[in-house]
Amino acid sequence: MIEPLLIELSKPGRCGTSLPALDVPETPLPAEGLRDELPLPELAEPQVVRHYTHLSQLNYAIDTVFYPLGSCTMKYNPKVDDVAATQPGFTRLHPLTAEEDAQGALRLMLALQRLLAEIGGFAAVSLLPAAGAQGELIGVLMIRKYLYDRGETARRVVLVPDSAHGTNPATTAMSGLTVRQVPSDARGNVDLAALGALIDELGPQLLGLMLTNPNTLGLFDEGLTEIIARVHNAGGLVYGDGANLNALLGALKPGHMGFDVMHFNLHKTFATPHGGGGPGAGTVAASAALADYLPAPLVGEVDGLVRWVTPAHTVGRMKAFGGNFAVLVRAYVYLRMLGADGLRAVSENAVINANYLQARLRDLYPIPHGDRRCMHEFVAQGLLAGAPGVKTLDIAKRLLDFGIHPPTVYFPLIVPEALMIEPTETESKETLDYFIDTMRQIADEARNTPDLLTTAPHNTPLCRLDEVKAARQPSLCWLK
Ligand SMILES: *Cc1c(COP(=O)(O)O)cnc(C)c1O
Repeated sequence: MIEPLLIELSKPGRCGTSLPALDVPETPLPAEGLRDELPLPELAEPQVVRHYTHLSQLNYAIDTVFYPLGSCTMKYNPKVDDVAATQPGFTRLHPLTAEEDAQGALRLMLALQRLLAEIGGFAAVSLLPAAGAQGELIGVLMIRKYLYDRGETARRVVLVPDSAHGTNPATTAMSGLTVRQVPSDARGNVDLAALGALIDELGPQLLGLMLTNPNTLGLFDEGLTEIIARVHNAGGLVYGDGANLNALLGALKPGHMGFDVMHFNLHKTFATPHGGGGPGAGTVAASAALADYLPAPLVGEVDGLVRWVTPAHTVGRMKAFGGNFAVLVRAYVYLRMLGADGLRAVSENAVINANYLQARLRDLYPIPHGDRRCMHEFVAQGLLAGAPGVKTLDIAKRLLDFGIHPPTVYFPLIVPEALMIEPTETESKETLDYFIDTMRQIADEARNTPDLLTTAPHNTPLCRLDEVKAARQPSLCWLK
């Protein structure tokens, strides 16, 4: 059923407010300038509450359904982190409070900087960036400034593998540098021969490489150390897209593998609910050589107090005040509650869950690199034998009928009809089995009752929508 609009529920004279008796002199309303044509709905309070509560229940959310949206790490976020982040001592702290009077908050930030540096194997961390993409942009600017400060101003080309996240080439281009794509090889790794040829061709123009690892195929690059060594040997630096850190926590430190700069997505890996475009944190970490280039300010200990500090060669301020502070509180509490063993268990379970799904689906759904062990996610294809009329979109829509948020579809671009599945560590075996059973049933339907898929969803308030029209000509107002 489509939710009625509030205006449709309106009855003249119905009212949801009760004002106290007038205790000031009554003054007539101005004779002119008031609009009386506004068709505001007249409603009782329960109608309004029910309306908005119903609307909120139409949302698919990690708190209501399984949400295996590849690359997004839609895992359950413990509520205790929200409780901590909404403590009045934090929420009421003015960002201009004197350092001396904000020691608790600043000390939390200092501890988080240190924890993240330790987890990533880096020398220093800036908590400022508001998103992963902003962290990438800052990281590229740091690398550029570092090299230009050394007189290497001819370096302006960044290599980005075709298995990278889309933000990687986008942020590189935004920083004014040139992007060159590196192809993947047959095993889904960076093609080393092609990489070598590009490095030779670019010579002193090579600024560096931006690497998503595990890549968007959910694969750990088997040539990682070789790739990093080749870029370093050619005088370039390596940026790590750390948004997929949920696969590596406690098992591997990217900084020790040779990455020079990397961002974390606190809103994916470390317990901030996301997906609706809310506040995030794309914390950037740097090796000792680049630590002085981090965006300012960081926090540091000065004479026993925690103070704002500015790295000597900083690329500058990229975000107001100290970043999205409540996101930082959630990450800190999450890390402290899990501890080192807990963190490792997170990534182990995330990887095991993804491999379990991959192993139980690969006989029906083609998985281009299904012979390899995946990391925290894998990419299947919605190309089912005996069902030529069914596409990935139909499978995604049909999943909605079973109360499952569809996986990421049609990304990465290098896999036709991609279904990118990331279960995360917070799902039970029962939920994973329900998803497997559902995917197997859908594969069966695709062969026997394909119309059921191509017209799905059937159980949602609205059925198949014209998505292009919804995006291009959104109707955001109930007024016709
Ligand atoms: C989500 C994601 C990003 C970008 O992060 P935002 O916070 O959305 O800007 C970058 N790389 C990968 C691999 C991601 O999954």
